[in-house]
Order: sequence, then C-alpha cells, then structure tokens
Amino acid sequence: MRKTLFLAALLVAASAAPASANLSVFACEPEWGALSSEIGGDKVSVYTATTGAQDPHQIQARPSLIAKARNADITVCDGAELEIGWLPMILQQSGNAKIAVGQPGAFDATNYAHLLEQPSRLDRAEGDIHAAGNPHIQTDPRMLSGVAKALAARFTQLDPANAATYQAREADFQKRWAAATAKWQAKAAPLKGTPIVVQHHAWIYMERWLGLVEVAPLEPKPGVPPSSGYLAQVLGRLQATPAKFAIRAAYEDDSPSNFISEHAGIPAVVLPFTVGGTESAKDLFSLYDDTINRMLGALKK
Ligand SMILES: [Zn+2]
Repeated sequence: MRKTLFLAALLVAASAAPASANLSVFACEPEWGALSSEIGGDKVSVYTATTGAQDPHQIQARPSLIAKARNADITVCDGAELEIGWLPMILQQSGNAKIAVGQPGAFDATNYAHLLEQPSRLDRAEGDIHAAGNPHIQTDPRMLSGVAKALAARFTQLDPANAATYQAREADFQKRWAAATAKWQAKAAPLKGTPIVVQHHAWIYMERWLGLVEVAPLEPKPGVPPSSGYLAQVLGRLQATPAKFAIRAAYEDDSPSNFISEHAGIPAVVLPFTVGGTESAKDLFSLYDDTINRMLGALKK
C-alpha cells in the first residue's frame, strides 16, 4: 500500500514537472536555427529571425522579432558583432533577462571558433563592419563541429532533464557531419587553387577550407558598396590576375558581380550562404552540397 502511494506521488510529481522542457530558441540566422534543431530535436522549438534572402548585417528590429525574443529561453546567434545593428535593440526591448548578454541564454557561435582577421585597431569610420574579426564562420563546415559541441552543452545547462537527448543527438550529428565534410572535401578537390572574386568579404573561411584564392572583394571595405571607379580598379587587377568566377551571397545586390562578370568575361555565381539561401539549400547538409555544386559548375563554364 505504502509502495503504491509512493508510486502515485512520483507520478504526480512527474506530471507536474514538464517531461520535455521544450527550450524556446531564438536563432538569429538560418544556419544556427538549423543547428539548434539538429542538436535539440523535439526538445527545442526554434524560431529563426532571418531568412537567406536577408542581409544578416542589416535587419530591422521589428516588433514581431521583439515579441519572439520576449519568450525565448536562449538566443543562438553568430556573434562577433554580425548582429550589432539590430540584436542589442531586440534584447533591450524584449525585457527578457534570460537572454541578456552574459547570461546562459545568450549563445554566440563565434565564441567557439577561432576568428580570422581580428583587427589590431578599431576604425568604424572607415566603414569596417567586421571590427571583432570576420564573423562568417558558417562558410566552412568544420567550424560547425565545435559550435555543435558547445551548443549541446548549453542546452544541457539550461535543460538538464534532457541532457541524454542533447548528448546523443550531438554525437549522432558529429558522426554524420564528419562523413559529409570528408565527402565535400573530396568532391571540391578541383576547386583548390582557383582564383575567385567575391562580392562581400564573407567567404574567407570557405576559401581557407577549399584552397580558393580571393583575388579581390567587390567592396572596398566590408559593408561599403563599390563605386564604379572601384569596380574599374578591380577589372584592372583582374587583367593582371584573372579569376575563374565571381561569387555573391543570395541576399546580395547582383549588380557588382554582374558588372564584373560581363566586363571580365567570367561567370557570376550565386551561393546560398545559409540554409534557405537557394532552393536546394534546404538544410545544413544540402547547404554545402549546393555551394560546392554551384562552384564546380562555374569551373566548367
Ligand atoms: Zn560581413
């Protein structure tokens, strides 16, 4: 009898505490929303604040985003000042102490990656929007491995009841990710040493990964649109050092890379940049499939 009562009490306690905590995730960009789903599965509900058609440097802090942030348990963002133009306002307006800077509910992916191009001096007057180092780590899939590990640990910290799920899902992700990365590297081997032109200086991690050689960015400074005079300079440089193709992210204005394509006689290639940037980039895995397919396609032109 006592045992039955004890069991009944346990059952009541179990139903009173939520069986699945269902962490509410506010992801700043689609790649971090996708990674949150990979690690969290049905234990997390993910809201992704931006799409692949939007410039993640330039987002409006709309009331709908603030409302979502108000109920979030964790933000999963890029960091390294990528969102400096919009996220601080959302955090402030949300009044949600859980996701304030420095809290366990504020997760920045770039804290778990070694950033390239950390400038020795800050000079925003020159239009440098990458003052904390280059934030675009998702262009190299190897960077996601460390982020995934840290994210699983953070989900576990916030929701220890589901620790086993987060750890199992992370281990499974790492296995699939390592296999996929090896496959991408083998497939992309013909790209090694290929000189390219980029629109925004957003691809340095991918260039290092695949051995692509950036001849020139089409922005004189990160975030500063090129003048026609500057594009003429780039064309001059391309005569001395020809590039095979010009890449830009799906969200970017197509005119600078189209201008270069037309005048230098090289293909302009649109890359997804994030999940959803192109129709084929439906998840983290197809993001890199599509990125490599598109560049290999341009190499054949
Ligand atoms: Zn950038």
